[in-house]
Amino acid sequence: MSLLEVTGLTAGYGPARVLHGIDLTVDDGEVVVVLGANGAGKTTTMRALAGAIPHQGSIVFDGAPLTGLRPDTIVGRGISLVPQGRGTFSHLSVLENLRVGAARRRDKAEIAADIDRWCEVFPRLRERSGQEAGTLSGGEQQMLAVARALMSRPRLLLCDEPSLGLAPVIVAELFRTLAEINREQGTALLLVEQNAELALGIADRVHLLEVGRVVAAGPVAEFRDNESVRRAYLGD
Ligand code: ATP
Repeated sequence: MSLLEVTGLTAGYGPARVLHGIDLTVDDGEVVVVLGANGAGKTTTMRALAGAIPHQGSIVFDGAPLTGLRPDTIVGRGISLVPQGRGTFSHLSVLENLRVGAARRRDKAEIAADIDRWCEVFPRLRERSGQEAGTLSGGEQQMLAVARALMSRPRLLLCDEPSLGLAPVIVAELFRTLAEINREQGTALLLVEQNAELALGIADRVHLLEVGRVVAAGPVAEFRDNESVRRAYLGD
């Protein structure tokens, strides 16, 4: 059984249905990327998984259904979202943002150790620990958003277009770090990304989303070899 098993997921906004029955799996420790054009429903999928919008269909995580659970309960189960546009608390300091990420935890010493650790991984966060998040650069805010999500010690990290609006050199650094976190901690990653080349570089498997449906899924190698995928997503 996979760590995350999504079957027939439908969701939308009011009467407008955006997802029309998504099937998707992520195995323990795996990196899975979701590719799709603008408006395909990638962000909506991530929101439904994080419990931020209502859905129908089945989401099973670590053997237990998530349907109907509140977002913070889902965090407690081991899923953490890095939302599109970062979503840090701009008037809280870097340190306060990190503490918010650990809001459900009670292990004070371990929380402090984790803060230390993520400041090691993202040294700019330590340099700016007392600064309001809103004053950070885009790249620093994205790193803070990732570090904050990791503060809940998730088994599955959902990342919604982490490269958006960032300079290529920052994006490369961020992806290297995500790959490292996956490798060293075994944290599974579900990644939505416009930059297909980059995403395929760290992914094990791909799901291709078109207008609210998964139209193809499989290992990265299959996608790299697929002509129409190359044309549509890799700019060939
Ligand atoms: P993008 O790459 O542009 O973020 P996406 O694949 O993530 O695309 P979604 O953001 O999931 O796509 O949007 C899917 C559809 O849902 C779009 O048609 C969008 O206009 C619509 N939509 C998104 N958010 C809302 C909202 N809050 N209210 C109403 N419709 C929405």
